[in-house]
Amino acid sequence: MPLPQGILNSALDAIGQTPLIRLDRIARAEGLKCNLLAKTEFLSVGGSVKDRIAKRMVEEAERTGRLVPGQTTVIEATSGNTGIGLGLACALKGYPLIITLPEKMSLEKEATLRALGAEIVRTPTTAAFDSPESHIGVAKRLQQKIPNSVILNQYTNADNPLAHELTTGPEIIDAIVADAHSFNTKKSSGKVDAIIMGAGTGGTITGVSRAIKKAHNPECVVVGIDPKGSILAFPDSLNDSADDATYQVEGIGYDFVPEVLDRMAPTVDVWFKIGDDEALPAAMRLIKEEALLVGGSSGTALAGALKWLKTEKGKAFADVEGSNVVVLLPDGIRNYMSKPWFIGAATQQKETPLAATIKRALAGD
Ligand code: PMP
Repeated sequence: MPLPQGILNSALDAIGQTPLIRLDRIARAEGLKCNLLAKTEFLSVGGSVKDRIAKRMVEEAERTGRLVPGQTTVIEATSGNTGIGLGLACALKGYPLIITLPEKMSLEKEATLRALGAEIVRTPTTAAFDSPESHIGVAKRLQQKIPNSVILNQYTNADNPLAHELTTGPEIIDAIVADAHSFNTKKSSGKVDAIIMGAGTGGTITGVSRAIKKAHNPECVVVGIDPKGSILAFPDSLNDSADDATYQVEGIGYDFVPEVLDRMAPTVDVWFKIGDDEALPAAMRLIKEEALLVGGSSGTALAGALKWLKTEKGKAFADVEGSNVVVLLPDGIRNYMSKPWFIGAATQQKETPLAATIKRALAGD
């Protein structure tokens, strides 16, 4: 459903309906003939792909009576973006909200959550998911102690992948189909031929894949990207890089496979592992070359897409004019403005020709 015309009732009505944008400059630089397209989830109202599941999980829990405004406290373990989505919903609907957040996650996410009125409990990043100290463990302990509190649990809640099966996936399909029927002169197969996504809970990749394969193109190649140091990729032998146990990119990768992630074919056809060394420069490329103000996990997805497009299977798409290859960009740089990987790269003094011109012009004053 497109965003309604006219006046929206609240921020919740401005969730999703994100644009699909051509990455023509990166495609040209990489010698790709296909249409390389970005699903720009950072343009959702709360700044990420996770707004969609927060809205759906809250609304479904209200429908079934699990959540009652003014009575229930919402608790959730998150890497921040689901928390921000829940923060929007809870601020608007009047639920107290407690977010458990691993230490690793950015101060920007914490500040946004606090501004939305949430309480934050930081947890050790290295705590195993099933330990009482992890963000998941602390959320459970709080839920047991706080009367009338509910964990919507994005790791097990079917409304997480369903939100993407019902909104994110169909939006991508609709944009490509509409474009193929438009008068523009770009070639198009009229289908989603391949799509590349990272996984945290796995809700996005599972739901989007189902939408595309069930109702649109069963042949679509779904490529999953997992950070080095995580264990979500399949087969498990891909996850052996024990030397790379931590990574800076936030929101993707885990030390357990969440229930909502269907990581095998036909849902996910192939997995790639991507480290910070490839992901963070790729995020900067999206910013500098395509003017898309994305966060780190978008870089992971782009780096994985470019890697896959260079494989034999990927080349069958990369070299075909009109084939549509989509990369999903989950959140924006707003979440990471103070992170060294961004602030360092963004403020580096470079001797560009324009900088030299400025120097000369001011020296002449
Ligand atoms: N990127 C970022 C920045 C995220 O916050 C998340 C959600 N944890 C993801 C990617 C992955 O989304 P999903 O949980 O649907 O797999």
